[in-house]
Amino acid sequence: MNFALTEEQKKIQEKARAFAERELASGAQERDLSEEFPMYLIKKLGEEGLIGLQFPKEYGGQGKDYLSFILVVEELSKVDSAFGIAYAISSTFTTGIYLFGNDAQKKHCMPRLFRGDALGCFALTEPDAGSDAGSAKTTAVREGDHYIINGTKCFITNSAVADYCMLIVNTDLSKGSKGLTAFLVDLKTTPGVRIGHIENKCGIKSAKVAEVIFENAVIPADRMLGQEGKGFRYALTALDAGRLGVAAQGLGLAQAAFDITKEYMKQRKQFGKPICANQYPAFKMADLETEIDMARLLLYKGVWKQQEGMNFSVDASKAKLACTNVAMKVTTECIQNMGGAGYMREQNVERMFRDAKITQIYEGTNEIQRLIISGNIFK
Ligand SMILES: Cc1cc2nc3c(=O)[nH]c(=O)nc-3n(C[C@H](O)[C@H](O)[C@H](O)COP(=O)(O)OP(=O)(O)OC[C@H]3O[C@@H](n4cnc5c(N)ncnc54)[C@H](O)[C@@H]3O)c2cc1C
Repeated sequence: MNFALTEEQKKIQEKARAFAERELASGAQERDLSEEFPMYLIKKLGEEGLIGLQFPKEYGGQGKDYLSFILVVEELSKVDSAFGIAYAISSTFTTGIYLFGNDAQKKHCMPRLFRGDALGCFALTEPDAGSDAGSAKTTAVREGDHYIINGTKCFITNSAVADYCMLIVNTDLSKGSKGLTAFLVDLKTTPGVRIGHIENKCGIKSAKVAEVIFENAVIPADRMLGQEGKGFRYALTALDAGRLGVAAQGLGLAQAAFDITKEYMKQRKQFGKPICANQYPAFKMADLETEIDMARLLLYKGVWKQQEGMNFSVDASKAKLACTNVAMKVTTECIQNMGGAGYMREQNVERMFRDAKITQIYEGTNEIQRLIISGNIFK
């Protein structure tokens, strides 16, 4: 068993860390207020060769492993987790296209995404289909060479700025989730597709999360991914990989909040000694560091199984559960250990605390992760 990163992985991690510190750090607080998504930084990330790492060279990727991608999500999320999740969700889209799309569909979007010229999104959730995503009722009806799509997807990350969407719709409502079918949709140019309400969120403020509305939208039949009726399985498969990305976002948040707080506790003095010289807050940090390490090991184990071609579905759920719970716990406790300063914007931990909450909700709430894990225990 080897716990060390390879030299190549270390270089990618260092590159991502340098990018985050150079390009993301100075504007992260400002973007949290302005809620503007920095598309120009996606372009720069592409120029650095940090997008599409885990995809083959023939589609413009770099043929690296999945851990390389996870390390980048973690590093970006340490500094600006709204940017980290935009990057990760775009990759969830790409995973779906790569696994289930044909050659033309892959060539249509992957090279542009990897150059940083575009973003992808993944649209499953609807107003009446959240945790029960298999009950999605947006419909696609075939008419000649096209499908006509009607319905509304909600809470779709990146949608307001994305060019491409992996869309899950129902082509046969009588079959329930077995009627779900996946499509590759050009969001900005397809007639009948528009962005609706852009959400005003608690955290990940600069990530653009919005409704996507389909009103007699016309999608060419050759944009269907794989086979009709297989869309739910395709979505769940893409989500397994996506959950490792959300776990990495949570881990990045936890690590960054911990590091900031550690330094603060060394500097800040009360009763004539640093805060870290008090056993109670110091022991809390000991527990938090232990839990961060445990979460990281679970995440990297899930990634390892993914890379080995093993079934990693339950591992992805465990990693998502552990890393996102640790993000919430660490950011909460770190604010407490910093006192009033921790509650203020200047220290960044306040933003991380708000960003951490969503990691327990999206890509399947942590209750749904427990359903998956317990279902596997008692199968
Ligand atoms: C900021 C943000 C970004 C998002 N991005 C995307 C995206 O890019 N693409 C996309 O498709 N979706 C996205 N989502 C949707 C997200 O995946 C859903 O919000 C999530 O799956 C939960 O669905 P819901 O909000 O309808 O909650 P509900 O399903 O209504 O659940 C409410 C509560 O009940 C619990 N619950 C529900 N069913 C059960 C059960 N059987 N057992 C135990 N507890 C249960 C839930 O865990 C939750 O605590 C996003 C959501 C948000 C808020």
